[in-house]
Amino acid sequence: MRKELKLVLSPEEAYQDSVFRQVVVKESGFTDTEALIIRPLRRSIDARSRKVKVNVTVEVFSGEKPPPVIQAGKTYPNVRNAEPIVIVGAGPAGLFAALRAIELGVKPIVLERGKDVRSRRRDLAALNKLHLVDPDSNYCFGEGGAGTYSDGKLYTRSKKRGDIRRIMEILVSHGAKEDILVDAHPHIGTNKLPALVVNLRHSILNAGGEIHFETKVTDLILEKNSIRGVITDGGEKVLGMGVILATGHSARDIFHLLTKRDVFIEAKPFALGVRVEHDQNLIDKIQYHCQVNRGSFLPPASYSLVQQTVLAGKQRGVFSFCMCPGGFIVPAATSPGEIVVNGMSPSRRDGKFANSGMVVAVELEDLGGYHQHGPLAAMIFQQEVEQAAWIAAGKTQAAPAQRMVDFVSRKESKQLLPTSYQPGLQSTDMHAILPDFISKRLAMALPLMDQRMKGYFTNEAQLIGVESRTSSPVRIPRDKHLLEHPQIRRLYPCGEGAGYAGGIVSAAMDGERCAEMLVAKYHRSRLA
Ligand code: FAD
Repeated sequence: MRKELKLVLSPEEAYQDSVFRQVVVKESGFTDTEALIIRPLRRSIDARSRKVKVNVTVEVFSGEKPPPVIQAGKTYPNVRNAEPIVIVGAGPAGLFAALRAIELGVKPIVLERGKDVRSRRRDLAALNKLHLVDPDSNYCFGEGGAGTYSDGKLYTRSKKRGDIRRIMEILVSHGAKEDILVDAHPHIGTNKLPALVVNLRHSILNAGGEIHFETKVTDLILEKNSIRGVITDGGEKVLGMGVILATGHSARDIFHLLTKRDVFIEAKPFALGVRVEHDQNLIDKIQYHCQVNRGSFLPPASYSLVQQTVLAGKQRGVFSFCMCPGGFIVPAATSPGEIVVNGMSPSRRDGKFANSGMVVAVELEDLGGYHQHGPLAAMIFQQEVEQAAWIAAGKTQAAPAQRMVDFVSRKESKQLLPTSYQPGLQSTDMHAILPDFISKRLAMALPLMDQRMKGYFTNEAQLIGVESRTSSPVRIPRDKHLLEHPQIRRLYPCGEGAGYAGGIVSAAMDGERCAEMLVAKYHRSRLA
């Protein structure tokens, strides 16, 4: 027999396994307490009132074998001798496109400019300690893409529950904890992601797919408005029934290549600003209404803030982005001569600091003279801000920083705070780096955010710049339903870089859809 219970629990009841079991057994009314199988289905924290509660939905089985938790991602057919498709980029979009292609009986050939996760780690150490930026191996490029050394937050605004569940199940079948199927705000953590990415790689290789690391695509093989394949930096031609282009938001050379080859692309609105770092304990106290600390059971608190601002008659949102409780700020530049910051956190989120992007929406009409760069307008704007940050902070990977109240009152920060950002900070006037329309809006919004989170606006927090890779500054157009480029047949712009995803899960979902559409089109054309 199966029962489903909806419970409102204290943090201890929800997160202490033995206590949780006791409570559920009691609430279930079953008597064979030893043999009961208990499975949480959903779990979310409600911190709106002073007493924090956890809402848990749980299923309890008595004398009945429960169905398996996951259905997706267990076995893959052998595609060694099947028709190939070319996938450029081994981020979430590329890897999930490859797995879906295998399920559909075609052979993925994945080309990735960066290195496998283990070799990549050495380049990240050199970036953090020696300030060396390898343009092919960094926090954005390499096996698993920008998703590998990230927070591994797995929430998405997509409403496609079935598709989201599928992605989560595939992640679980490759090593993620089953908790991600349950938590309202699931995350994996940067310490767990590399092993998971290696397991995804093994599934692709074991099924007969190919993955080529340190293989950069430098040209497209175009024939009569159709793509036949790509050319790599080693001069090799790689051909396939179609090309899924999943190169991420930082592959500027790909955007330049598309422009050079007259493939339609367009400038896209995005967002730009800074990363804000507070003490995690302060965020816990604000969010959980506690005096001292969050106690032993609650996870480190997160936040999400939005503030509308009006400047020169134009309304733009200022919003927190990719908040990382207990996390680190990392140097996410992809070329020497620029500073880009981003955030990540380990699975336990037990670091001392809380960081979050705090960014301003950038619309195309804000770009003024940059429009001379045509479809690359937003990208060049983004690049110039990153370069200005590098120059202002002393031409290393040390990042420009300013304490929060000092920034708003336009005062120099004589002393900066301790930080999680390993390459170090340089006290800088952030207004001098950020374009006026961004810095002014940030300065307007931050004090107002204190109304929603009392204590958020404080000089015990600092702004670290620049957070500029929030989403792609370019869109590669595609047919809404068929997902094919409107001008180049068999080309499937995919994932975050093409403008169709914003995060790990949505990129993975888009990868799957592109593989499905490409294979469906191939089958249709063979029947015709
Ligand atoms: P990417 O992951 O960017 O992958 C693109 C791949 O293409 C890269 O591996 C790149 O090397 C490769 N490539 C580029 N050009 C070429 C070429 N010419 N030839 C061959 N290969 C090429 N999202 C979340 O949902 N949750 C988070 O917690 C989170 N935290 C993040 C933390 C950090 C530090 C960063 C940088 C990003 C984070 N993100 C997070 C964003 C998330 O990682 C991206 O949204 C996601 O990875 C996009 O997937 P993608 O496959 O479209 O592109």
